[in-house]
Amino acid sequence: MRKKIVAGNWKMNMNLQDGIALAKELNETLTNEKPNCGVIICTPFIHLASIAQFLNQDVIGLGAENCADKEKGAYTGEVSAEMVKSTGAQYVILGHSERRGYYAETPEILKEKVLLALKNGLKVIFCIGESLEEREAGKQNEVVKAELEGSVFNLTEEEFKNIIIAYEPIWAIGTGKTATADQAEEIHAYIRSIIAEKYGQAVADDTTILYGGSCKASNAPELFAKPDIDGGLIGGASLKAADFMGIINAWK
Ligand code: 13P
Repeated sequence: MRKKIVAGNWKMNMNLQDGIALAKELNETLTNEKPNCGVIICTPFIHLASIAQFLNQDVIGLGAENCADKEKGAYTGEVSAEMVKSTGAQYVILGHSERRGYYAETPEILKEKVLLALKNGLKVIFCIGESLEEREAGKQNEVVKAELEGSVFNLTEEEFKNIIIAYEPIWAIGTGKTATADQAEEIHAYIRSIIAEKYGQAVADDTTILYGGSCKASNAPELFAKPDIDGGLIGGASLKAADFMGIINAWK
C-alpha cells in the first residue's frame, strides 16, 4: 500500500534560528503524538546539518529543496546531491515550478538532477503541474505527461520506486486558489494511469502522488479523501507548527 505523506517546502523562508525552532517544535509534537502519515520537512540547504542532528527521522523525514545537476567540482555556489545526503537528509525536491520558471531548469537538467539524487541514495519529490494558461487551454494532461517523460520516465522500475510525485498546478501555488478536490483527483488519477502504462499497475498503485498549491488545514480533509491524492506538498502553511499540524491531522 502506498505511503500517505505530508511534506513541507519551506522555500526561501526561515533563518537558521527560526528554522531550528520550528523543526524542534514539530519534532517534539510528532514524537509525542505519532502521525497517521509520513511527514517530511524540506528546508534551505544551510539548515539541513543542524536539523538532522536532533530530528527523530522515524517520524519526520528531512529533505533539501534542490541539488546540483553536476556531481562535483568547480561550480561555485552549487550544492551536490552527495553533500545533501551527507547532512543526514533523505529527500530532495526537484522540478518545482519556481525552479523551472525562475531558474530556467529544463527537463534535461532535471533528468540529471534526478539521476544524481538517486545515485546518492536520496528519494526525490518530483514536482509537475501546468500554468493557468495551459489549464485554460485544456492542456494540463499533456503538460504533466511531458514533464514526467522529460525527466523521470527514463528511470528503471527499481529507480522509479524512489520517486514521490507532487502535482502542483502553478496557478494554485501561493495564490489562495486551490484546485477543487475533484479537479485534483481527476489529474492525479490521470498521472497514476500514465505511470501504470509505463511501469505497470503495481508500481502505479505504490506511487505516492501529493497535491500542492494553497493546501491548508481547512481544505486538506476534502483533498485527502480522494482515492488518488496521497497527501500534500505544503508551502505557506508549513511555516507554522500549528498550521502544518492541522494538515497532518487531516489524516486522522
Ligand atoms: P503554497 O502551499 O504556499 O501554495 O505552496 C505550494 C508549493 O509550492 C509547495 O511546493
